[in-house]
Amino acid sequence: MDDKVRELLGKIKETATYAVDAAGSAARQVGQKTGETIEMAKLNMKIFDLNTEIGVNFREIGRIVYDTHLGKETDESALKDLLKAIDDKNDEIESYRARLAEFKKSVICPVCGADCAKTDAFCKKCGAKLEN
Ligand SMILES: [Zn+2]
Repeated sequence: MDDKVRELLGKIKETATYAVDAAGSAARQVGQKTGETIEMAKLNMKIFDLNTEIGVNFREIGRIVYDTHLGKETDESALKDLLKAIDDKNDEIESYRARLAEFKKSVICPVCGADCAKTDAFCKKCGAKLEN
């Protein structure tokens, strides 16, 4: 990774941290859902970071391809590593997206804090009415 890419990533991560802080303070005001909202913000942030890293990997692959076009020796193992890194990051993103989908399907009971399904009219644990 070259210095300019590293510098850019640093800047992006700085603003990303502010976004998490903002999400966190907004979440504190809504009370019960705080933990869930912060967790979701963290998952979104991880997905954002991974997508940024994938973009960098694509750029590196592009450079290897272009160097090959220029007649330089192709670094095939580096190319394979980059492709594998992108596969791994995509798998990771997929697992975070699945967890986000789970959060969106659930609702937290305002009385006991149980994790209930969005389709439930009443809490499965304490029986309180759920606002859906
Ligand atoms: Zn409950």
